[in-house]
Amino acid sequence: MCRPDFPALRRPSYVHRGGLHEHRKGGGRRVRHQHASAWDDWVEGPACSGPAPVATPGRHGKPGDRTNPGRRGRRGRRGRRGEEHSMRKHVVVLGANFAGLTAALSVRHELHGDVDVTVVSPRANFLFTPSLIWLPFGKRDRGDITFDVEPTLRHHGVDFVQAAATGLDPTARTVTLQDGSTLRYDYLVIATGYRNDSDVVPGFAENAVTITTLEDAERAGHAWELFLRDPRDVVVAATQGAGCFGAAYEFLFNLSFQLRRHDLHQRVKLTYVTAEPFLGHFGIGGLPHGEQLLGMFLRKEGIDSRLNVGIDHVAQDALVLETGEEVPFGYGMVVPPFLGQEWLTAVDGLTDAKGMVAVRDSYQTLKYDDVYAVGAAAAVEVPWTTPTPVGIPKTGFPTEVMAHVAARNIAAQIRGEEPTDEKAFGDIKAICVMDAGNNGVVILADKMLPPRKHGVLIPGPQAHVMKLGFEKYFLWKMRNGYVQLP
Ligand SMILES: Cc1cc2nc3c(=O)[nH]c(=O)nc-3n(C[C@H](O)[C@H](O)[C@H](O)COP(=O)(O)OP(=O)(O)OC[C@H]3O[C@@H](n4cnc5c(N)ncnc54)[C@H](O)[C@@H]3O)c2cc1C
Repeated sequence: MCRPDFPALRRPSYVHRGGLHEHRKGGGRRVRHQHASAWDDWVEGPACSGPAPVATPGRHGKPGDRTNPGRRGRRGRRGRRGEEHSMRKHVVVLGANFAGLTAALSVRHELHGDVDVTVVSPRANFLFTPSLIWLPFGKRDRGDITFDVEPTLRHHGVDFVQAAATGLDPTARTVTLQDGSTLRYDYLVIATGYRNDSDVVPGFAENAVTITTLEDAERAGHAWELFLRDPRDVVVAATQGAGCFGAAYEFLFNLSFQLRRHDLHQRVKLTYVTAEPFLGHFGIGGLPHGEQLLGMFLRKEGIDSRLNVGIDHVAQDALVLETGEEVPFGYGMVVPPFLGQEWLTAVDGLTDAKGMVAVRDSYQTLKYDDVYAVGAAAAVEVPWTTPTPVGIPKTGFPTEVMAHVAARNIAAQIRGEEPTDEKAFGDIKAICVMDAGNNGVVILADKMLPPRKHGVLIPGPQAHVMKLGFEKYFLWKMRNGYVQLP
């Protein structure tokens, strides 16, 4: 076990105590900090000689900023040394996307900056995943839909460590990072999202493309360019167990739109293959008139469909269904089911079989009061059985709600109160826009999962405009760390 040999990682300045120290960073930027650090207690082990994760001290809040750690941090650490450290709590958040950023900034906000927060993520940027549906068609590139999280976090007094967590010891309250160092926490938020279940069907990884990660969507874009040179039939599919049906529909309709643009609509047969028991189920049980509406969209676009069917395997140029039918393709985009991060499964009593973290309605884990899980990493039980298994989409809005609930509960615990805030996943509102190229559908419901009182689908070109506006708004909101905004 070793501690990364990287001064910034060992000693983020806002946790330092003692005499002020000043030095110049690379590029000549002057950095002031103080000696002797609680960080030495948080990051354990001898210094490593190998490469260290990148860490950046979060101390540069603007003067007057309520979450300026320089001001709040010092105030929080007044008093005798031993007392000071034991009073100020350390929240570690694993993950820096929708769930992680929201939880980290929200807990700082809840406690008016009087808490130390560290975000850990192997990826240094925020990715607006909803725009991945456009990336393969060249309508977006990675620069359009990502931003560097470190400046945002630093501005709000949150430390960032660019590294993957690889282990968790809930008894010692430590997280192990990829270089073997450990990070101590008082409260932990697991917001490590999803990974593709690439083994869902043989041939998926080799013969199909998908759009569920940035790198995957870029590969799908490359394959799209090749397809345009030699256009043949197209299949868009969501496998058994998949939950991200919204993305499959959006890609399907955007692809159809692109076929028209390239004057290929008459030449290319487009087929939608899905595990959903009916069109417009979306993994949330469907909404009133959804089946008719989606059926109308498919007919209008001349899209063929295969419903309620599993995929046996993906051959080089065909999807082979469990029924034995072969659906040939020259371009095949397949949405797989999602799994949690593998290393979490090693922690006693933490995850379900898919590696998703089992949680209560407070987003505390079932076994550990001081360990939370939010967003795509949190397990949600599928409340129905369907002939072909379908998962549940853990979309952006519920992800944010979960992160806020967790942040309020952690703040309560730090104040010595009970963590009483609760919101079951199924009771969170469903708010989503399904884009269809130059058209779309706004999806609104009082609850993610039935029984519901209200649910409505509003089709029309305004939905496409809303999605474009929402992308800009959401990236602006997150880049500025305004997580309290809707
Ligand atoms: C193609 C697509 C389209 C979508 N469209 C929509 C939409 O239109 N509307 C909508 O509401 N939702 C949409 N979603 C769902 C949305 O993307 C998810 O709700 C959201 O990504 C969940 O956020 P998250 O932060 O929980 O997880 P993720 O976005 O998966 O983020 C996980 C974070 O954890 C980090 N991480 C991973 N491993 C580790 C580790 N070992 N240690 C530390 N950190 C780690 C990652 O670097 C990342 O920062 C879409 C999803 C996809 C795939």
